Amino acid sequence: MASFCTACGKQISEEFRVCPYCGVAVARESQPELSPVEPTAPPTSPTVGDTKKPWRPRGCLGAILVLFLILFVLGVISSVFDSSSKPGSKKPSGDEIAAYTMSQTFVKRELQSPGTAEFPSLLWEKRDVRVTYDTSTGLYTVRAWVDAENAFGAKIRTNHIAVVQQTGADTWEAKRVELLPR
Ligand SMILES: [Zn+2]
Repeated sequence: MASFCTACGKQISEEFRVCPYCGVAVARESQPELSPVEPTAPPTSPTVGDTKKPWRPRGCLGAILVLFLILFVLGVISSVFDSSSKPGSKKPSGDEIAAYTMSQTFVKRELQSPGTAEFPSLLWEKRDVRVTYDTSTGLYTVRAWVDAENAFGAKIRTNHIAVVQQTGADTWEAKRVELLPR
């Protein structure tokens, strides 16, 4: 777009900010750089609103994905617990997990350094844990191992049998705890 000098009226190329003929600073009647900016400025606020709309479903989708992930993890954990309790008894799995957890506290009492005790995980080493329930006596027999430091600070693995009984809502009793030398 060509423009004309407001002082001398000569046609001057757009790249000139100062008129090459008279030296007056060029004041352009039509400012091609600035004028398109103003019409586009108002549309920017509606487009901001427009871009906000797709954000909401995205946030929803993220929440749903997180929810599914949590459900999936819970499902994996519960299925592991279910399968670990299947061999041996018909009692609900929750009781056997509690029996196993309680047996650990009883076994720790027999150890020289209970703070170092590590028991097989029901998630990763469930094959190493055997919990059986005797319906006639109400006794749980837990067979597992424990890694713990001995008197010399060496970590050794010991198999054990713990017979425990639930005596109340949250109270358990150890009938027998036996550490088996390997
Ligand atoms: Zn001029």
